Amino acid sequence: MAVAHLKDIVKRYGTTLALDNVDLEIGEGEILGLMGPNGSGKTTLIYALVGLIAIDAGEVQVFGKDQQANLVEIKRRIGLVTQDITVFEDLTARENLEFFGGIYGLKGAELKSRVAQTLELVGLEDQADKVPAKFSGGMKRRLNIACALTHGPEFLIMDEPTVGIDPQSRNHILETVRELNRQGTTILYTTHYIEEVQAVASRVVIVDEGRVIAQGTIDELVGKIQHEEKIMLEVAQPSEELLEKLRRIDGVKQVEQQGKVIKIISQAKAGNLDRALSVAREAGGLLSVNAEKPSLEDVFLTLTGKRLRDGGEKK
Ligand code: ADP
Ligand code: MG
Repeated sequence: MAVAHLKDIVKRYGTTLALDNVDLEIGEGEILGLMGPNGSGKTTLIYALVGLIAIDAGEVQVFGKDQQANLVEIKRRIGLVTQDITVFEDLTARENLEFFGGIYGLKGAELKSRVAQTLELVGLEDQADKVPAKFSGGMKRRLNIACALTHGPEFLIMDEPTVGIDPQSRNHILETVRELNRQGTTILYTTHYIEEVQAVASRVVIVDEGRVIAQGTIDELVGKIQHEEKIMLEVAQPSEELLEKLRRIDGVKQVEQQGKVIKIISQAKAGNLDRALSVAREAGGLLSVNAEKPSLEDVFLTLTGKRLRDGGEKK
């Protein structure tokens, strides 16, 4: 079942088309990585999903229900970690969580135990009675995440939660995301860090200029652009006979010799690395092997002409 379905969403800010017919489903139990450069519409998409902005066209369903008709119920079952950190600087970590839990109607012993559990989940149990004014950026972010979790949402939405924080907190957040997902929480994880998508996402959606331009598992996305692979074999004694054998492998397009290195261009996914290796081994004296496969970064670059890391400017 889909936890959320955005159907042909259009959102304009004046003349800016922030969402251009976005159609997207988020499946129950998945960690969906939403990836795109700055200004591509990620935050707008999230706001449309949770009903924080009015859309110009389209329809949103969450938990199988029409969003507009069920907004109160839907908001109760969602946790939202916004792009900007919003915590009360002069309340302690525990008081922050008590406040947010209270908004969702938790009280008494239940509130107390949810707050304790959530502090532990984000690794702030030792800081519970300190005010976030003394926290590092990463600790503040973890508190901010905890605020979105106290009421035990089924569906957690995180908008670039690791921008500008220390690696230790970043790893902690990624681990928290995995743990929540193991416990059954569906997660929409927005980022422009490819490594994070690779580390946590079960499926990826790439947005650019307000449009969904690709979606699938990482392997599927890489497969889309992976037409060829390049295999470099270094051998002790390259012979014409070996080159001929390599050329005869099905799917191999080109075999070139440069000194002791044999460069093979092959159709991707043909299993030709294994075949080339066994041919070279039979010939004896295989010194080294190098195979280059496209990465998610290459997928992004191929599809958008932009790099993610530098904030998405055209190359
Ligand atoms: P992202 O989160 O991927 O960086 P946003 O959803 O914030 O992208 O922005 C998408 C586009 O909409 C951008 O061109 C941005 O400038 C524009 N935009 C976002 N919010 C507003 C707003 N409140 N008013 C006007 N334009 C906006
Ligand atoms: Mg954003």
